[in-house]
Amino acid sequence: MCIFCKIVNKEIPSNIILENEEFLAFHDINPKAPVHILVIPKIHVDSFNEVSPQTMNDITKFMQDVAKELKLDKSGYRIITNIGEDGGQEVKHLHFHLLGGAKLAWTHLSDADPKGMF
Ligand code: AMP
Ligand code: ZN
Repeated sequence: MCIFCKIVNKEIPSNIILENEEFLAFHDINPKAPVHILVIPKIHVDSFNEVSPQTMNDITKFMQDVAKELKLDKSGYRIITNIGEDGGQEVKHLHFHLLGGAKLAWTHLSDADPKGMF
């Protein structure tokens, strides 16, 4: 069973922000911003590549609720999902990083020439 499925099953502790039947939001153990939350579906989905449009529909509302709960909806925030090798995905269970609590950096994300491929 993957580490996030263990978090869903409460076999591994997490600091939960919001939870419903389908989704779970909890603090990232290694935050990259003053607020760094992970939002996951409770059912195992490997990554965004495999997620159904129905799950995306429902998780959108859930993430909006998380942002409101943390009072980020007015100040702003960022949602990221890493996919596969080049995306830098370490945990192979779909998760959305919700980052905020300060003005976030926005910079080159790789050493490669950004004008290189297309
Ligand atoms: P990614 O690199 O997109 O796969 O992100 C995985 C994230 O999961 C990283 O930001 C980790 O800090 C976080 N993480 C790993 N294990 C745990 C855990 N047990 N509880 C909370 N966050 C975790
Ligand atoms: Zn899983």
